[in-house]
Amino acid sequence: KVTYDKSNIFFKIIRKESNANIVYENEHILCFKDIFPKAPVHILIIPKGHFKDIFDFSINATLEEKKAIYDGFAKVIKIFDLELDGCRIISNFGKHGRQEVPHLHFHLFGGEKIGKMVS
Ligand code: AMP
Repeated sequence: KVTYDKSNIFFKIIRKESNANIVYENEHILCFKDIFPKAPVHILIIPKGHFKDIFDFSINATLEEKKAIYDGFAKVIKIFDLELDGCRIISNFGKHGRQEVPHLHFHLFGGEKIGKMVS
């Protein structure tokens, strides 16, 4: 069983105890601007459920929760008009993936050519 750390900042953002620049929200997900953007468009897409990382989510999320993430990708791509030019979506997991916030999140980068996939 995965232990989820409720002191993380995204837990507070979901509960509206901390502010975020929200671009899209529904029952299952929250999409908001990264506070230190690394591209002209840098959005974080997160489930509202308490999942530590992509491994936890892959094992324990319901199909509805999983589908909601893809719906979030589609929404954000449409909101920022990225259909033609594209973008990059990544999720950092654990120590080797350099995950800093222990609540699953997907980074969506766009608005310009994103650099090398792995440097
Ligand atoms: P990661 O290294 O994948 O865990 O990335 C965590 C990301 O969360 C970083 O890009 C941070 O800039 C971002 N971040 C941290 N705190 C906040 C916050 N309060 N609002 C928006 N983004 C944040």
